[in-house]
Amino acid sequence: MSENKIPYKIYLSEEEIPKKWYNLRADMMNKPAPLLNPGTGQPMTAEELSGVFCEELVQQELDDTTPYIDIPQEIQDFYKMYRPAPLVRAYCLEKALGTPAKIYYKFEGNNTSGSHKLNSAIAQAYYAKKQGLKGVTTETGAGQWGTALSMACAYLGLDCKVYMVKVSYEQKPFRREVMRTYGADVTPSPSTTTEVGKKILEAHPGTTGSLGCAISEAVEVAVTHPGYRYVLGSVLNQVLLHQSVIGLEAKAALDKYGIKPDMVIGCAGGGSNLGGLIAPFMGEKLRGEADYQIIAVEPASCPSFTRGKFAYDFCDTGMICPLAKMYTLGSSFIPSANHAGGLRFHGMSTTLSQLYHDGYMEARAVEQTAVFEAAEQFARIEGILPAPESSHAIRVAIDEALKCKETGEEKTILFGLTGTGYFDLVAYEQFNNGTMTDYIPSDEDLEAGFAALPKIEA
Ligand SMILES: *Cc1c(COP(=O)(O)O)cnc(C)c1O
Repeated sequence: MSENKIPYKIYLSEEEIPKKWYNLRADMMNKPAPLLNPGTGQPMTAEELSGVFCEELVQQELDDTTPYIDIPQEIQDFYKMYRPAPLVRAYCLEKALGTPAKIYYKFEGNNTSGSHKLNSAIAQAYYAKKQGLKGVTTETGAGQWGTALSMACAYLGLDCKVYMVKVSYEQKPFRREVMRTYGADVTPSPSTTTEVGKKILEAHPGTTGSLGCAISEAVEVAVTHPGYRYVLGSVLNQVLLHQSVIGLEAKAALDKYGIKPDMVIGCAGGGSNLGGLIAPFMGEKLRGEADYQIIAVEPASCPSFTRGKFAYDFCDTGMICPLAKMYTLGSSFIPSANHAGGLRFHGMSTTLSQLYHDGYMEARAVEQTAVFEAAEQFARIEGILPAPESSHAIRVAIDEALKCKETGEEKTILFGLTGTGYFDLVAYEQFNNGTMTDYIPSDEDLEAGFAALPKIEA
């Protein structure tokens, strides 16, 4: 098909929204390492996990052989409220950059939570409801996950308790109010409402919190309140599974026009949007059917892939969660508060960690002001005000497109535009005022985190 026939937006029809999630692990030769019980050092059993998580989600977490898993009808119906998400050809950006590269982005910000997180929030809330639970507890960093979960819980009539990283709670009061509007109970973390919160406050008085702290608090509340389970918005295999709708839709849209990307780029906090976006492409790569260059982009202030260690570690600061083998900066690592937005988690999805370790993908770390320069450029040219997290992917997509301008290569670039930045205007204000700074942890900072890694041979 000739070039000029490709529209600015490639939409799928409602019938083309995926009816099955794709489980990337089924095609991996080296499976992600199992979660370990921190007490015994043995793999967590379904029974042990079901004290913390909903039963059906535990099945999904442990299933690394079933390639396709049916999306229940109720979830499909919910997806129809805001999906399919558009796949956009960034003609305006290409022209402004003067690049021969062809740039596409998959935009997941078309819902009130403003991000891709709703794709997994509705699935997790659905299985909690199906199990007859009263409610769920969770943490939220920048606030998108808490918002998405609040929306899903309101829709299904579940109670929702959110522990919100204190720095975000204070910087983003409007996020908090969106969650409360959807009926969630929101507590700044660390708090004195939990034992682990009190301990963390004693050890680090005045801390602005971290995702790891908030996870510990939310887990404690779930296991001490009957009828509650804990849900997590990223990192876990089940979350990557639900997020595969992003990649499946993107691939279906590209396939309509016979387009094969050379490069797939996404930002990586805990790895859920990236894992979802790349899923069908990585599947083809693993099965030897096609090749793609896959790039994870992380902040230089929290560089799990590029400077972390591939080791078993706790997912939370309180060290009460199972151990996961992943690229990590150590569960005691608390990224600098000056970093805007999400992508502050110390670890990474075990699935993506294994794929990175095995050489199936690359990673780049980018600095905050360079990210906001890309965000501003994108907003002015493509019209969408991007989330700071998403702008990490924009930065690298623009850099790659500019490389093509030098070499004359007509590469096709696909990147994930995970959300909008309306609640990140304090960060945009700093950028506009010229007061934004870059923070890169020193080797000594990182060594402190590594020294606290649990001693496990695996
Ligand atoms: C949460 C979030 C991310 C990072 O989380 P992943 O699990 O790595 O995808 C990226 N972009 C937006 C807009 C988010 O809300």
